Amino acid sequence: MLTVVPRPVTVRAPSKVNLHLAVGDLREDGFHELETVFQALSLGDDVSIVPAPATSVTVRGEDAASVPTNSDNLAWRAIEMVAAATGHSPDVAITIDKGIPVAGGMAGGSADAAAALLAADALWNLELTRAELHSFAARLGSDVPFALTGGTAVGTGRGEKLLPVLSRNTFHWVLALAKGGLSTPAVYRELDELRSKGSPPRLGDSKELMLALASGDPTRVAPLLGNDLQAAAVSLQPDLRRTLRAGVTAGALAGIVSGSGPTCAFLCSTADAAVEVGAELAGAGVCRTVRVATGPVAGARVVPRSSRG
Ligand code: ATP
Repeated sequence: MLTVVPRPVTVRAPSKVNLHLAVGDLREDGFHELETVFQALSLGDDVSIVPAPATSVTVRGEDAASVPTNSDNLAWRAIEMVAAATGHSPDVAITIDKGIPVAGGMAGGSADAAAALLAADALWNLELTRAELHSFAARLGSDVPFALTGGTAVGTGRGEKLLPVLSRNTFHWVLALAKGGLSTPAVYRELDELRSKGSPPRLGDSKELMLALASGDPTRVAPLLGNDLQAAAVSLQPDLRRTLRAGVTAGALAGIVSGSGPTCAFLCSTADAAVEVGAELAGAGVCRTVRVATGPVAGARVVPRSSRG
């Protein structure tokens, strides 16, 4: 009898940096109204799934120990959601190779959820439409739809209503990964607290940034980077101030806290400049580790078997 050995499906999904993150007031549903410009970065996670006797998650990589391996894992939840909606068994072994820092403000969990959605679609030959995938993604989390689409996009609502942004050229980034993580809800709570005690400056709209992105000139983009969550992240982790200063001293055009932090993202003028800034930052002892990345990159994509490492 011929035994067919099921082949794993692997999907790579990008991380993100928010070039502009304007946080509005707290809504009745407990979320904040956002206007954000996302850029997908080359630092990514690989998620593989293969049929198995039961659902399981294995996580590999530096930060693996802090990622849940039960049904709290967003990739597991994505598989369960698609299985329930399409009548498939969720019994798959999920393997996540983490390149994205955990709880780093770079939407690593969301990337894994997006990757798992596409992997389920491919494994079960579902041929889900973009709209169906987007609808699953939005139910899994605010940043999951962007991990599917990638590129550069403006997000409104909780960040899940997306429109593509014209962005010329490839931008060169250095990411300073911090020692611990920051909980996204805690950072939003800190911002509410800061706002209740005073009036921290708020970002305006992102029109100027859109024009700068269309020009493709990083020196025009750099002064327009902004993040309303930065003050809150720095308030919870004051060392970030030193990290941000060190990147600019090392030659970056600008530095911002990525999303809810604590990763700091530095925009550099060229690929060579990014390597130099990365080396200086690594030597300055202001972060756990440094990565160089480019953006924009595509959203979650099935990795062809021939190009798997
Ligand atoms: P956000 O998307 O809210 O900005 P983040 O990028 O700061 O989050 P994540 O790496 O997504 O942080 O992790 C946030 C928390 O989500 C982790 O502390 C972890 O407990 C949980 N989590 C669930 N699934 C995953 C996953 N597949 N990878 C990483 N974290 C996960």
